[in-house]
Amino acid sequence: MTHCDADGPHEWFRRMISNCLQYARAAHAEGRPIIGIMCEFTPREIIMAAGAVPVCLCGGSAATIPAAEEHLPANLCPLIKSTYGYSVLRNNPFLEMASLVVAETTCDGKKKMYELLSERYPMYVLELPQKPHEDSGLAQWCETLRRFKAELELRFGVPITDEALRAAIANMNQERRLRRELAALMKADAPPLTGRQLLDFKSRVAGMERDLVQLELALVALRSQTELPARQNRVRVLMTGVPMVHGAEWVLDLVEDHGGLVVALENCTGLKPILEDVDESSDDPIHALAVKYYHLPCSVMSPNDDRLNLIRELALEYRAECVIELVWQACITYDVESYRVKRLVQEEIGVPYLGIETDYSVSDSARITVRVEALFEAVLQRRRSGSPAAPVSAVQEARPDDKT
Ligand code: SF4
Ligand code: SF4
Repeated sequence: MTHCDADGPHEWFRRMISNCLQYARAAHAEGRPIIGIMCEFTPREIIMAAGAVPVCLCGGSAATIPAAEEHLPANLCPLIKSTYGYSVLRNNPFLEMASLVVAETTCDGKKKMYELLSERYPMYVLELPQKPHEDSGLAQWCETLRRFKAELELRFGVPITDEALRAAIANMNQERRLRRELAALMKADAPPLTGRQLLDFKSRVAGMERDLVQLELALVALRSQTELPARQNRVRVLMTGVPMVHGAEWVLDLVEDHGGLVVALENCTGLKPILEDVDESSDDPIHALAVKYYHLPCSVMSPNDDRLNLIRELALEYRAECVIELVWQACITYDVESYRVKRLVQEEIGVPYLGIETDYSVSDSARITVRVEALFEAVLQRRRSGSPAAPVSAVQEARPDDKT
């Protein structure tokens, strides 16, 4: 096989929502609980070990936001509003099937939205400590996960054994490994995928056997691809910032439609949650899960130096020529942290940086296009001059009022 574009895996993941829906409906009909989750801090493994199906409920549709704004302030992150809007409209079939929604104490907007959601859906909130380098924080998080396990056992009348936890951990480690290996293909001079194609290898339901088979097939096909597309002239972009959930990928598309190639996606829908596995040999699987998930460098953590270290490593590993940071409007934590990211990128990594703050509406796509083009022109000038120093000033001059 020389080319993957027209064969199974791409097609399979293009039908991702209907695949997941079919799977969840069949599981539901067999009596397996459907459990909604809304954050990468939630260990899917504990849910799977209870015989339940973890489904991501994060909303990526602009269409549900007006309904959400009947209850929520307009000046709130679109990811929160979109997720909540589905509940108002009652048109997310996964949410309507869910026996439980698992939430978490991450950002303020989500925490307060969960209070409203809990009036209509059964909910369990994981309490996440937010000082990542304190042992007491990890101990507290471990206790949170033990209480969560006990809650599932009580609620669904099933014992969660260490054996079942280990099986779920192995399953999720395999999924993380396959996704990591696919992402690593982007290190090539002419990667066999675009950033958007890579992003599309995702699923609402974790650990589905058929997804894993398709990810394996994709890896085999892409590794043996001989007719590589000519992508050397495209600007190698590292994207960081907020998650780009299914349906909310328009900024990535815009970047790639204007000469960029997103070689690394640092966020929660990219590499961040899959870079570390759970220790399968631990005597205490809950502790092993707590360790892995507590390391997630989300901007709700303070201080969040691990995210900066990750951006630094990925920029080098994937040879990024610039960094684009996406912040959804009213996302305070990522927005404030963007000052540190910008400093890191410009002063330490030495490549151009562009900060984009927007929402799901695409109404400011013309303005963003101008800024992306200015960024890429700066990168191309740098290539032409062969200078190792990033021509950051060129981008700053293009838009002195923006976050470049
Ligand atoms: S960015 Fe933070 S709050 Fe959002 S899904 Fe990731 S870990 Fe959760
Ligand atoms: S993008 Fe920001 S505001 Fe929105 S849910 Fe994630 S952390 Fe919260």
